[in-house]
Amino acid sequence: MPAQKTPKSPRPLIAGNWKMNGTPADLKQIRALITKLSGKTRYECDTMICPPATLLAPMADLRARMKARTRLALGGQDCHPHASGAHTGDISAEMLKQAKASAVIIGHSERRSDHGETDKLVKAKVEAAHKAGLTAIMCVGESLKERKSGDTLKVVGKQLRGSLPDGCTSANTVIAYEPVWAIGSGLTPTAEQVAQVHLALRKALVRRFGEQGAAMRILYGGSVKPSNAQELMAVPHVNGALVGGASLKAGDFLGILAAYQQ
Ligand code: PEP
Repeated sequence: MPAQKTPKSPRPLIAGNWKMNGTPADLKQIRALITKLSGKTRYECDTMICPPATLLAPMADLRARMKARTRLALGGQDCHPHASGAHTGDISAEMLKQAKASAVIIGHSERRSDHGETDKLVKAKVEAAHKAGLTAIMCVGESLKERKSGDTLKVVGKQLRGSLPDGCTSANTVIAYEPVWAIGSGLTPTAEQVAQVHLALRKALVRRFGEQGAAMRILYGGSVKPSNAQELMAVPHVNGALVGGASLKAGDFLGILAAYQQ
């Protein structure tokens, strides 16, 4: 059974996070993906790839050549809170927009841990993304220690409150719940555990943003693969997935999209 949408649930999004992977040789994966997305099979979801910044323009060119602008969205993996300036190695939301991205992942746990990103900084980046006209895909998630000590809802609730500015809408913001211990580990929470967190996030979003919060997409991320996508995508208030490793090969990614195949 494909994942079902209730009449009011937001249109799902499956977004691939390529992280620090990919060279021009990997454009063949995008070609294969677009070919399938342009074919007869219908997927009841939006699809996005967030490559390293070096591949945004080549992917956008390929997408244009294949006349598939609306089939595959492109996103960045991080942005600086400022629009320009002396920030060696950083990239701004405006630059991503110019490179044809429509979204940007912000506050991924690898940014929070590798680069010490705080909720305050994440919030400033979300604001920068909105200002540039990008959808912010803002990530929250607990560590294994926090889960084991029963603090999951407290941790993700605090991250959500501290990382979102006022003025978030269902168009400019997507939430990704990514338990840190599930990322790249092959481990996944049970459907019940995912349901509990997504319901808590939904309630918090509705309390703060009203109707916009009710319509905001909440993605699940962490070791999503073809074999578990259907079960995870069928959990209430799971409106798609943020996919790391399994987004690198078109075949695996399409296997995940199959959860929404009509
Ligand atoms: C991620 O890092 O966003 C992620 C979900 O990775 P993976 O699917 O490889 O666990």
